[in-house]
Amino acid sequence: MKDDYGRPLTSLRISITQKCDLNCFYCHREGCERENREMNVSEISKLVEVAADFGTKKIKITGGEPLIRDDIVDIVDEISQLPVEDISITTNGVTLSEKVDALAEAGLDRVNISLDTLNPETYESITGKDSLEKVLKGIDFAIEAGLHPVKLNTLILDGINDGEEIDGLINYSLDKGAILQLIELEKVLPENEKIYKKYHKDLDSIEEKIRKKASDVETRWLMQARRKYLVDGGEVEVVNPMHNSEFCKYCTRLRMTAGGYLKPCLMRNDNLVDVLTPVRNKDEEKIREAYETAIKLREPYFH
Ligand code: SAM
Repeated sequence: MKDDYGRPLTSLRISITQKCDLNCFYCHREGCERENREMNVSEISKLVEVAADFGTKKIKITGGEPLIRDDIVDIVDEISQLPVEDISITTNGVTLSEKVDALAEAGLDRVNISLDTLNPETYESITGKDSLEKVLKGIDFAIEAGLHPVKLNTLILDGINDGEEIDGLINYSLDKGAILQLIELEKVLPENEKIYKKYHKDLDSIEEKIRKKASDVETRWLMQARRKYLVDGGEVEVVNPMHNSEFCKYCTRLRMTAGGYLKPCLMRNDNLVDVLTPVRNKDEEKIREAYETAIKLREPYFH
């Protein structure tokens, strides 16, 4: 099903918990306000099943930190029985080495791992924890488990990791055969305002440097028109949503909050649609209606 702007729905980004074992100072918490419900495995599975019926092919599991849930392997296992083509998790990677084999066996296709720096002190100053070594171990284990391609998410913070650090991360990714995604800091929740003012970095100059080194560039039209550069045999992707009308024009994503609300846009909380209540009431018609309403409510945030 397409929205009123002709954009198909092909991907669902589903938050399964608001809890996290890190405390990144910039976190937008997927644009979600605090909620007091959490979906169980069968509820998540039901919601993915209906999303698949509406044309969703890609499922991204997020949080909070999704690996914090004891039933994360069951969640992946249930989703993998459904007619979707790509199941991935975005994780901080702290406990990934312990869980990745079971996740791969359960049907996980891919993983995105947050890695803003290779410097342990900088890592601790961003996340509040000295877990960098565990994350690097998680990356190695994910590669060994065959979750190809492993993607590394680097959020660029002005004055923290926007200089030489980027070359280090590009080299590290090339060495590991991983794809590096450079992500622009977003101002989503009101509480992110001060952080945004202080640390937001326009990615244009960084992108220009990468463009000069690149042998080729691809535009991922079904993925918010993101640019992917081929550099020395590796891939670097630039994700810059702020004030980017192309990003919104080619957005094919619906979100689900951990409390079971469909969320048509990361940037807004005034148009959430409760879909967990009809799931709990086993009301098939209302579940479908909730999806239809949420898809209709999708509109580009940046025009
Ligand atoms: N804990 C998991 C992780 O680290 O991937 C999942 C949740 S985290 C919110 C998902 C992604 O959002 C991370 O890659 C993180 O870097 C990114 N993110 C968090 N706050 C952000 C912000 N203010 N702007 C842009 N991206 C942000």
